Amino acid sequence: MLSSFPMADASASARGISDLHVLLVEDDELQLALLSASLRHCGVTRLTAMHDGWGALAHLAAGPCDLVISDLHMPGMDGIEFLNRAAEFDVGGFAISSGADQDIMRAAEAVVSDCGGQLLGILTKPLSLEVLRGLLEKSLRVTHALPRRGSELQPAVPAAELRTALERNEFIPYYQPKIQLQTGSISGVEVLCRWQRACGQVVGPEQFIHVMEGTPLMAQLSWTLLERVMADTASWGQEAGAVSVAFNLSACMLEDPALPDKLLSACKRHDLPPQRITLELTETVAASRPRLVRDTVARLGLRGFKMSIDDFGTGYASMDLLLRLPFRELKIDRSFIASLKAGGKATPMLDAMITLGRRLNMEVVAEGVETEAELACILQLGCTTGQGYLFAKPMPNEALCSWLVTHLAANAAR
Ligand code: C2E
Ligand code: CA
Ligand code: CA
Repeated sequence: MLSSFPMADASASARGISDLHVLLVEDDELQLALLSASLRHCGVTRLTAMHDGWGALAHLAAGPCDLVISDLHMPGMDGIEFLNRAAEFDVGGFAISSGADQDIMRAAEAVVSDCGGQLLGILTKPLSLEVLRGLLEKSLRVTHALPRRGSELQPAVPAAELRTALERNEFIPYYQPKIQLQTGSISGVEVLCRWQRACGQVVGPEQFIHVMEGTPLMAQLSWTLLERVMADTASWGQEAGAVSVAFNLSACMLEDPALPDKLLSACKRHDLPPQRITLELTETVAASRPRLVRDTVARLGLRGFKMSIDDFGTGYASMDLLLRLPFRELKIDRSFIASLKAGGKATPMLDAMITLGRRLNMEVVAEGVETEAELACILQLGCTTGQGYLFAKPMPNEALCSWLVTHLAANAAR
């Protein structure tokens, strides 16, 4: 440890602040002294100052800390590596103190949030006492609510439990509408699987899909769900006859050479034209099995199914895939829409993806649209379709039926 600064005379107005445990990581002597003095001036009494990341990590390993303020330019372990490692510990929130340029600051922000940490502020140079006080007050409101990395991951549900749930028919489809942005009309719904447990709890796919993937359970889940969805479409009424239904294709389904014919006979059984079915394939799955995907996508396209490339922008070999395969829809991953609020390169990146999709005559869907500002932005960039909480959250079939009645009637009246 470099130094500790006990302070007995914290003012009454800063009483809360004096309870905060603050860790300062800064290699520059002058900067360290300035920040320490400023923090003390604001009422901080429990201050630990460290010259480098390793010392700071050792300190964090010893116990919880309310606020970590770190520089980015440091010899040895730089600030980005330090933030990555520090997020493993019990830290209420982080702040960055740096004169680094915007791009580097943004990368640091992303590091903190990716690790499940909270970035409470950025201290630019020259230091403003007002900003510093605001940061400390913000820190007072944080109650270490966010779990640390590692503990954030839910324990995987044992496969045996999932097998029983499958036998009990506990996996059900939820539906999330896709909206045509120019008209506000509904173009389709995406099927998103949920596990409805006997106790009433509804469990999301992130807790069971990865356990099932690579085992026979995944194919069983997919086909059970598909049958149920196709049966559900009959309850949507005639007005919903043009609403398309999108399934997420798992890797194991792609590996089944009989997939195109099995899907076609399921459509026939339920009297659904294949043109109403969209099959979403993530870029990562598509790129990991290029030959198999090339053949299967072509065979599915031949039978009239609409092929969609999902989570676009997060995988690789994207250009090659788009060029060679008959994808008709491109779904831009929601991380790109979410990053719009951070400004910077998010808008030109989205612009490029939307333009690419449109030039290739694909329907471009923006995923995860949550705010009016995001909607305005993607509309301006020429995106045709949107999906996200702003329009509707995923919902069970009964809720979708009422939603469809309201929305189809409103669209007809326009
Ligand atoms: P995905 O295919 O990218 O689905 C979109 C995810 O984004 C869904 O999460 C949806 O609930 C969520 N989402 C939609 N709009 C918003 C928004 O505005 N804000 C935010 N924060 N999130 C939004 P969900 O339902 O948890 O599904 C996660 C992933 O699990 C899906 O990602 C998909 O890859 C997979 N999945 C879900 N159901 C199935 C399935 O039946 N089969 C297969 N193979 N995968 C599935
Ligand atoms: Ca999807
Ligand atoms: Ca997606």
